[in-house]
Amino acid sequence: MTQKLSPLYSQLPAIDRLLHEPQIALFVEQYGQTLVTATLRKMQEQVRTNIRQHQELPDWCDNWAVALGQQLEQRQVLSLKPVFNLSGTVLHTNFGRALMAESVIEAVTQVMRSPVTLEYSLDGAGRGHRDCALANLLCELTGAEDACVVNNNAAAVLLLLATVASGKQVVVSRGELVEIGGAFRIPDVMAQAGCRLVEVGTTNRTHLKDYQQAINEETALLMKVHTSNYRIEGFTAEVSGCELAKLGVKSQIPTAIDLGSGSMINMAQYGLPAEPMPQDYLNQGIDLVTFSGDKLLGGPQAGIILGKKQWIEAIQRHPLKRALRADKMTLAALEATLRLYQCPEQLCYQLPTLRLLTRSQQEMYDLAQQLLPQIQAYYGGQFIVRNEPCYSQIGSGSLPVELLSSWALTFTAIDGQGRTLEQLAQHWRRLAKPVIGRISEGRLWLDLRCLEDGKALLQALLL
Ligand SMILES: *Cc1c(COP(=O)(O)O)cnc(C)c1O
Repeated sequence: MTQKLSPLYSQLPAIDRLLHEPQIALFVEQYGQTLVTATLRKMQEQVRTNIRQHQELPDWCDNWAVALGQQLEQRQVLSLKPVFNLSGTVLHTNFGRALMAESVIEAVTQVMRSPVTLEYSLDGAGRGHRDCALANLLCELTGAEDACVVNNNAAAVLLLLATVASGKQVVVSRGELVEIGGAFRIPDVMAQAGCRLVEVGTTNRTHLKDYQQAINEETALLMKVHTSNYRIEGFTAEVSGCELAKLGVKSQIPTAIDLGSGSMINMAQYGLPAEPMPQDYLNQGIDLVTFSGDKLLGGPQAGIILGKKQWIEAIQRHPLKRALRADKMTLAALEATLRLYQCPEQLCYQLPTLRLLTRSQQEMYDLAQQLLPQIQAYYGGQFIVRNEPCYSQIGSGSLPVELLSSWALTFTAIDGQGRTLEQLAQHWRRLAKPVIGRISEGRLWLDLRCLEDGKALLQALLL
């Protein structure tokens, strides 16, 4: 097959020649020969593709040095980009859930810079296990006998099941066979842990006798799962932690609850929807509870298992623990977060998650009033910009029906006046620090609940 080569290919400069251009030589000094050469090769490839597809050179071929500078700069940008989360969901899994408190950031920085006593005790007692210090703190805060920390709550549930009930039966109510976003489904996790799921009761009603009747010599665990992201209403019945714990003791079978979010403080005191607290279930006699570190607790991604010493020790010894354990940065972040719970009076200023969740609607209203004039002046030609009440969501599986009153800037397209809402949203997603809103009811909403620095938003938007 013969194909006539375009004469344009002969205009491609050789890499060697480019590397000797004075401006490009400066880039070599700054970024090194390897990266600069690799980038130039990529650019040559882009030129070839352009010639093949469009029979012309790309515009930037006029000045390779400038184009190279831009490409090198783009390559330095990390893929985990900071964004303005104005979606209205505070604990957004896609945006990395909880923000860390300042003291947490300091603690993590310190353990990143220096060797630390991760599995080393300074009193000469030899090697301690890595969760020891945290376990003491968790026990102090919750009254638990012992604790185990792993990579996330999904890992906590998996490890718990694999340790306590592998090859055996686990009894769960049909109303609690939860699916969480991202493919966490209780029946699938059971299967992965080698357990046989025994469903009892019905979707809307499960009684103690349903658990009772399911028990046989193969039963290794009675389990409850908090239905964090949905609610069954109407003619319903569920077995309480208290009742389940009593049945467990009577039949000598351990009991466990996956709390999902869980909260170590009473959320109702802040006017927020009540979330089950691990210490309540432990007090009721439940053997083991699991919950996330980065949901309402407001810390790093982690899974926490609290409960009876005998079971936690077995969990710590299970070979899967090694695969699921948390690293030193996570452990430092979790410890520093939990320290804040020792001073609950200040929690709502210190812990960003709680600070954002407890902001009054007035605060967001004032912020909206303050931002509106400049944003209106800038966008008013193409959009109707208003300031409107809205509702935020807690997120991370916390009941999506429980909403928090907030305030938003809204953008409505003016027909025939230029950009659509989708184009505006896309433009904002491409900013150096992207601004993420939400489109609904024919408007683009910027919920201000998670905005603490109004000036920074203006800087981003008025560009
Ligand atoms: C969120 C959740 C999980 C998973 O927790 P991760 O920390 O995201 O792994 C498991 N169970 C329930 C009930 C949850 O709400």
